[in-house]
Amino acid sequence: MSTVAAAYALPAPDGAFEKLTIERRELGPHDVLIDVKYAGICHSDIHTARDEWGGTRYPCVPGHEIAGLVAAVGSAVTKYKVGDRVGVGCMVDSCGKCGPCLADEEQYCEVGATMTYNSPVAPEVQPGGYTMGGYATQVVVTENFVVSIPEGIGLDVAAPLLCAGVTLFSPLRHWEAGPGKRVAIIGMGGLGHIGVKIAAAMGAEVTVLSHSLSKQEDGKRFGAHHYYATGDRQTFRELRGRYDLILNTVSADLPLDDYMRLLNLDGTLVILGLPENPLSVKPFTLAGYRRSLSGSMIGGIAQTQEMLDFCAQHGIGAEIELISADEIDNAYDRVVASDVRYRFVIDAATI
Ligand code: NAP
Ligand code: ZN
Ligand code: ZN
Repeated sequence: MSTVAAAYALPAPDGAFEKLTIERRELGPHDVLIDVKYAGICHSDIHTARDEWGGTRYPCVPGHEIAGLVAAVGSAVTKYKVGDRVGVGCMVDSCGKCGPCLADEEQYCEVGATMTYNSPVAPEVQPGGYTMGGYATQVVVTENFVVSIPEGIGLDVAAPLLCAGVTLFSPLRHWEAGPGKRVAIIGMGGLGHIGVKIAAAMGAEVTVLSHSLSKQEDGKRFGAHHYYATGDRQTFRELRGRYDLILNTVSADLPLDDYMRLLNLDGTLVILGLPENPLSVKPFTLAGYRRSLSGSMIGGIAQTQEMLDFCAQHGIGAEIELISADEIDNAYDRVVASDVRYRFVIDAATI
């Protein structure tokens, strides 16, 4: 039997969120039915719901930072049982056979991973023909795309780790952040603040590059060793050539040359923020100091589990503002205005 769930959806790019009921598929042998307890609001939800990237299907139910409890399992499920604390991030399936999938990098699946919302799927997978996310009371996900949330982290502060956490953890691991490495994080919003905590816990020397110094005390509390305002031109003169790794989490266009020049020899700037416009950087900026410009997309399922275990071990959760479902529109506006400390999380009991 399929499940009827309550959800919050945007009916059109410029509409307001409204409540509706959606159907979740009948449990297949490998499926897990999850009672959603909390769903984080990622800036990607806003880009998608407002159709800033194009191709959004409506009604759009966003939400890919999902934490909840297992309510039922299919007949062949081995990893989870009813009552387990679990999470779902940005993906709900992938081909499982290509090189990236076999290397536990499902986010780079050659066929294209099925994203948690707005991905076309067969109607048997999600009635309606495209996936609907976690701003809902229940989700059904195949067990290989469900992760376990360790006891040490509250489900509310764990939810944002499912996207924001792994999006920062993955490049920090890939570019080997740790003792002796100087890491800068541009933008201290949802992604950035978790990045500061994780990079500091890995032992790197961490700098925040924020618009202003207004969040400096918080940044230091999260583990940043240095905090600079990018609104002050002196910052760019003082920090020139300093960093091994810079992670750009900003959701808006930035003058990339200014930031690339802060890299040292062989340093890398990684694009994580995804505004819709093309990037521009001068060839001389890359050639000088043999700098690299790269990008990174979330992280694989195994790495998401590794990140959650790492966060539990280091006492890391997101800093959140818990909201009720009827406050989503206002929360979106506040995220866009950089007025969030530091992640809005929807209490699914209010849906
Ligand atoms: P967020 O909470 O809104 O944080 C973005 C931060 O960027 C803001 O807090 C602000 O930091 C800074 N910022 C915003 N507008 C700015 C501007 N005009 N100029 C300079 N700085 C500005 O968003 P988020 O949820 O962390 O997501 C950030 C971006 O990452 C989004 O584009 C999202 O789609 C993308 N994303 C990518 C991945 C991936 O896999 N690559 C995964 C998740 C999200 P300060 O106030 O500190 O300056
Ligand atoms: Zn996200
Ligand atoms: Zn694949």
